[in-house]
Amino acid sequence: MLTTLRNIVQEVSSASDLQVALQVIVQRVRGAMKTEVCSVYLYDPEKTSYTLMASEGLNASSVGQVTLAHCQGLVGQVGQREEPINLEDAAAHPNFHYIRETGEERFTSFLGVPIIHHRKNLGVLVVQQIEQRRFDEHEEAFLITMSAQLAGVIAHAQATGSINNVSSSSSAPRIVRFRGSAGATGVAIGDAVVITPPADLGAVPEQACQDTDAEIALLDGALAAVRKEMRETAERLADRLPAEEQALFDVYLRMLDDRALGQEIRDRIRAGSWAQGALRQVIDEHIRNFEMMDDHYLRERAADVRDLGRRVLSYLQEGVQAQVRYPRNTILISEELSPVMLGEVPQDALAGLVSVRGSGNSHVAILARALGVPTVMGVVDLPFHKLAGKKLIVDGNLGLVYSSPAQELLDYYTEVLEEENQFSKGLEATRDLPCETPDNYRIPLWVNTGLMTDTIRSLDRGAEGVGLYRTEVPFMVRDRFPSESEQEKIYRHQLESFAPRPVTMRTLDIGGDKSLNYFPIKEDNPFLGWRGIRVTLDHPEIFLVQVRAMLKASVGLDNLRIMLPMISSIFEVEEAQHLIHRAHAEVLAEGLAVAKPPVGVMVEVPAAVYIVRNLARRVDFLSIGSNDLIQYLLAVDRNNPRVSDLYHSFHPAVLHALQKVVDDAHKEGKTVSICGEMAGDPAAAVLLMAIGFDMLSMSAVNLLKVKWVLRRIGMNKAKQILAQLMKYDSAPVIRNALELALCKEGVGKVLGIKSRRFFGG
Ligand code: PEP
Ligand code: MG
Repeated sequence: MLTTLRNIVQEVSSASDLQVALQVIVQRVRGAMKTEVCSVYLYDPEKTSYTLMASEGLNASSVGQVTLAHCQGLVGQVGQREEPINLEDAAAHPNFHYIRETGEERFTSFLGVPIIHHRKNLGVLVVQQIEQRRFDEHEEAFLITMSAQLAGVIAHAQATGSINNVSSSSSAPRIVRFRGSAGATGVAIGDAVVITPPADLGAVPEQACQDTDAEIALLDGALAAVRKEMRETAERLADRLPAEEQALFDVYLRMLDDRALGQEIRDRIRAGSWAQGALRQVIDEHIRNFEMMDDHYLRERAADVRDLGRRVLSYLQEGVQAQVRYPRNTILISEELSPVMLGEVPQDALAGLVSVRGSGNSHVAILARALGVPTVMGVVDLPFHKLAGKKLIVDGNLGLVYSSPAQELLDYYTEVLEEENQFSKGLEATRDLPCETPDNYRIPLWVNTGLMTDTIRSLDRGAEGVGLYRTEVPFMVRDRFPSESEQEKIYRHQLESFAPRPVTMRTLDIGGDKSLNYFPIKEDNPFLGWRGIRVTLDHPEIFLVQVRAMLKASVGLDNLRIMLPMISSIFEVEEAQHLIHRAHAEVLAEGLAVAKPPVGVMVEVPAAVYIVRNLARRVDFLSIGSNDLIQYLLAVDRNNPRVSDLYHSFHPAVLHALQKVVDDAHKEGKTVSICGEMAGDPAAAVLLMAIGFDMLSMSAVNLLKVKWVLRRIGMNKAKQILAQLMKYDSAPVIRNALELALCKEGVGKVLGIKSRRFFGG
C-alpha cells in the first residue's frame, strides 16, 4: 500500500497543472482501489459550493458542470462534517442528492473523504461502486491516507496559478496572492530574479530558450565533461572495484550517450526550453519511471539518474552563473535564501526578497531587516520556478506576494510605497532628538550590528550604543576562521566607529541555523544541540583567540562589553569568565594596557529565566534574546513556516517571562536590555519600556520608528496599557488590544495598520 501511495503522490506532484493532477488522481485511485468510480469535487470558498472537477466513471460531460451547495448532497455532508461517509446504499441516505447528468444511478455504494489542508476544506474525494457493499476498513484507510497526502499537492497546484480553474465561470479576475510570513517590513514592486543554489535540479526555473544552437552547444559541452569525469573515475577505481560494479560506469556512460538522454534533452531544447530546464524535465521523467518500478533494485536506480542529472547541471551552470542580470528593482526569489545570495545583488538594485523556506525569525530575515529590504519568508506554495522575469509586489508588512498584479493593485501599492517613503523622510527629523517620552522618561535606544552597512546606518540614525554585535557575521563571510589579527581589525573598526558609546560584542554564536562552511555541524535537532556558548566552551582555542582580539581592539577606547550567548547554567558562565580572565591576563602580559570589560549574559533559554538572580550576581549586565527565548518558551521553531502562526511575541507566557527577568535583574542591581527583534517592533517597544527594560537594542532600520512612537506615548500611559494587557490570556487578543490602544493615542500610522486592514490580511 505504501508503494502505491508513494507512486501516486509522486505522479500527481509532477503534473504540469491542477487539471492534469486531478485527472491523475482519479485514474490512479480508481485503479488502485479496483472500483468503478473515482471523482474529485473541489470547494470554492467564494461561491461556497463544490464543483465536480475530475472523474473516472461518471459521465465525462458532467465534469466542470456539476456543482453542489456547501451542505448539499453526500459530498456537502462530508465537507461539512470533515469526516468520511461510507455507505453501502447511498440513495437511502437522507442527504442523498441525485444529479442526473453524472449517470451515477448505476452505482450503489459510496465512500467520500474530505480533502483538508492546514485546516482548510479543499474538497471531497469520492469512490463509488455498483455492488451494494460497504467499503471495508482497509479501503477507507487507504482513501483517507491518499486524501491527506494529496491535500498538500492540490493546495500547491491551486496556488501555482491553476487556481482559476475552480471558479472558471467567475468573470472577475482573481488576484494570484501567495501567503508567507512577514520577514522585513515595507513594500516593494519589481521584477523577479530567481536564484537557484548550484546543481539543485529541483530548483531549476522554467525558462524559454533564446538561442537554440547556443543551448545545444552548452549541453554537448556539459555531457562531454561528465563523460570525461566518469571515465576518469572508472579508471581510478579500476583495480579496486569488482567487475560488476565497474559495469555500472558503462551503464552511466551509455545513458549519457548522445543518442540516449542527450537526444531527449536536445529534443526539448528544440521544442523551446533552455538547456537546464530541458535537463530537469528529462531527468524528472526518468526518475519517476524508475521509482514506479516494483523491483527494488531498479527503483534504486532513480538515485543514479538524479546524480547524473546533478553532474550535468553543475557543468551547465558553470557557463551561466555569471550571467545573472539584476534589473533596477530586483525582487530576489529562492527556495531558500542565503546571506550569500543577498550579497551578490548590487545594493541599489535590490528591492525585495522572497523565500519559500524559513520564517520571519530566520537569520536571513534578520539580515534583510538590517538592510531595510522588504521581505516575505516561508511562502511555501510559491511556484518560484515559474516566476523569473514576472512583475511582483512584495508586502513585507503582511507577508504577502502578488504575481502579475492588476493595474488597480499596482496603483494601490505604489501609493503605499510613496506614503512609506514620505513617512521615513518625516522620521529623519527625530534623528538628533533623545528618546524621551512626553512625561520625561528617558530610555536609550541601542542597535544590533553585524554588517558594515549596519554600522553606517546606525551612526546615521543616532544610536546610543551597540546592544548586540553579532560577531559570527564576519566568520560567515570567510572560508576559514579569521585569525586573531584579522578579528582584531574588524572589532577595532566597530569599537572605533561607536566610541565613546558602548559596544556589546557577543562571542561566536554558531550552530542552530548559523553554520560555517568550514566548520560544519550536522545534527538532527540543531536548535537543541551544539549551539552558541556550548561550541565555544568545547573549543577554548576559538574562544580565547576571539576574546583576545576583542580586548586588543579595545585598547585606548574602553567601550567594549562582552556578552555570552545561549547560557543555560551558572557553570557555563563561570567557565567562560575563567577563559575571559585568562585571555585578559595574556593580553596584559603582552604589555597592552586594557581594562577588563563588563561581561554579561543573554537570557534566551527558559532555564535562564528561572536563574536570573544567580546569573545577575555573577555578571555585569543581562540582555534578553527574545528571538530564541520565544522559540524555546513556546516550542516553536523560529524557522519553520508551518508553525510560524504559533510564534507569538505577545504570548502571555512571553510577557510574564520578560517581566520576571527584568524584576529579578533589578533586584540584583543589574541592568537588563532586550536585543531580539521584538525590541524593533514599535508597538512592542511601548510594552517593553513599561516592563522596565533599561535599554532597547534593535536593527537600525527600526530605530527612528520606535523613537517616534516612544516620544508620543508617556511612560504612565504605557504602564496603564501594560497592566490592562497582562490580564488577557491570548496572544492575538493582546496584539489587537495593543494596536487599538496605540491607534487611540494617534500613533497607528507607524504600525502599518492601514495596509493590514485593506485586503483583510
Ligand atoms: C535572539 O535570540 O533574540 C538574538 C538576539 O540572537 P540571534 O537572533 O542572533 O539568535
Ligand atoms: Mg539568539
